[in-house]
Amino acid sequence: MNIAVDWRAEAKRLTIRNQAFIGGAFVPAASGKTFPCTSPLDGAVLAEVSECDAEDIDRAVTSARKAFDTGVWSNQSPKQRKRVLLKFADLIQKNANELALLETLDMGKPISNARNGDLRAVTECVRWYAEAIDKLYDEIAPTPRTALALIEREPIGVVGAVVPWNFPLLMAAWKFAPALAAGNSLVLKPAEQSPLSALRVAELAAEAGIPAGVFNVAPGFGETAGQALGRHADVDALAFTGSTEVGKYFLKYSAESNMKSVSLECGGKTPNIVFADTADLDAAARGAADGIFYNSGQVCDAASRLLVEDRIHDRFLSRVMELAQQYRPGDPLDEKTRRGAMVDQTQTTRVLNFIEKGQQEGAALVTGGKQVRRETGGCYIDPTIFDRVENSMAIAREEIFGPVLSTISFHTPEEAVAIANDSKYGLEANLWTNDLTKAHRIARALRAGTVTINNRDGGGIEVPFGGYKQSGFGRDKSLHAIAKYTQLKTTYISFG
Ligand code: NAD
Repeated sequence: MNIAVDWRAEAKRLTIRNQAFIGGAFVPAASGKTFPCTSPLDGAVLAEVSECDAEDIDRAVTSARKAFDTGVWSNQSPKQRKRVLLKFADLIQKNANELALLETLDMGKPISNARNGDLRAVTECVRWYAEAIDKLYDEIAPTPRTALALIEREPIGVVGAVVPWNFPLLMAAWKFAPALAAGNSLVLKPAEQSPLSALRVAELAAEAGIPAGVFNVAPGFGETAGQALGRHADVDALAFTGSTEVGKYFLKYSAESNMKSVSLECGGKTPNIVFADTADLDAAARGAADGIFYNSGQVCDAASRLLVEDRIHDRFLSRVMELAQQYRPGDPLDEKTRRGAMVDQTQTTRVLNFIEKGQQEGAALVTGGKQVRRETGGCYIDPTIFDRVENSMAIAREEIFGPVLSTISFHTPEEAVAIANDSKYGLEANLWTNDLTKAHRIARALRAGTVTINNRDGGGIEVPFGGYKQSGFGRDKSLHAIAKYTQLKTTYISFG
């Protein structure tokens, strides 16, 4: 990152795109309605954003369908789409400071995380799918020699994408990059808390050469715009990232409309299991702290349940408590700040209610627990740690989506696995041990889409990401994501 950037000055210079992007142009909502987009840094209104509803969703879907049917994008060769998408990635990179600033102002994450984390990952994601798409081959089936069966992957058509606010642009990119690379048209509905970066990126897509109507962005609320997209009869596939509760609505919307395919990337309650034989316990403690306090714990795979072997419990927990102090919230526009604001006051209050509930249920609050920096007018919570948590308590069962760690002791590996799996979620599990056999055995026993061993990283765009159980189904990232945006066609030719 260019350390000479004066982010406050840049923020004053920003031109915010605040209208829907439909059919290749910025347009107001048909109703003329707008909603205020508020910054959690200080409560300031950043922009009045077009409030799309069913009519606008219909306009966006119609425009996407038209673009798809004319073949302006869907019939381009993979090599041509690759060229345009690489240009798109270049433009994202060129405008990364502006996009990162929009993320920080809109949802509160530190500018260093937005610029060095989110924007790098977004650029890499678009570039990766651009590079991948002209290297995928289809299949010929092993038929008798009197026949030829082609098994071809075709774009599915019009894709609806509904995404959350915790990594606004990255969660969107995990959908739009593979969907566009595969030749689809798309209608993206960003979260109402964080619509700004998606609107700007749609404009960059057009500048890169993605034809009008192929990439539409319709900001608005879940119950109106989100639902209209989920229920639209001309949407072929709906890719959702968000809470488990809302994910279930999309299954219903699909069932009650056109049986569109639905893929769900939902919540998590990641168990982070630390065994006493871990070679580098300090690395494990750093992983535990970063795993719950990065992005204020507003991360689907946040390591929110710390399972510690009882004989190292005291010293391990005191090290995590010490590290937690490095994650006290600060000014998100200061490059040295490690942790910023919560997304809004609603989420802040929700997290504080869970903290109260944890205390009522008898867990020991050992660090934090309070809203801080109130003088800023923004939404900040101190890093919070509970000890003596039972896995039956709400703070161990529910996804808090905040900087709140629940510590649980265990005695045997079997007990650790039982506690880890005793959850409706199965997005990720983390494991720390120096015993290779134990690591493999436990990784197999854990019911989670990703298991990390002696790290909290989980890999980049090249590995799939998604859940078991009520964390959802379908996978983002990697070549496996392409499956959500394509369908297989068999063409059977007989010679005999
Ligand atoms: P949310 O479910 O409240 O909202 C997500 C999106 O759904 C938003 O765009 C919202 O407007 C829309 N929506 C809300 N209600 C709707 C309705 N009734 N009909 C249609 N659309 C509706 O989630 P959130 O609070 O924005 O994000 C946090 C959640 O996202 C957490 O549960 C987190 O675990 C999850 N998440 C999962 C992953 C993953 O890859 N598994 C990644 C990031 C976030």
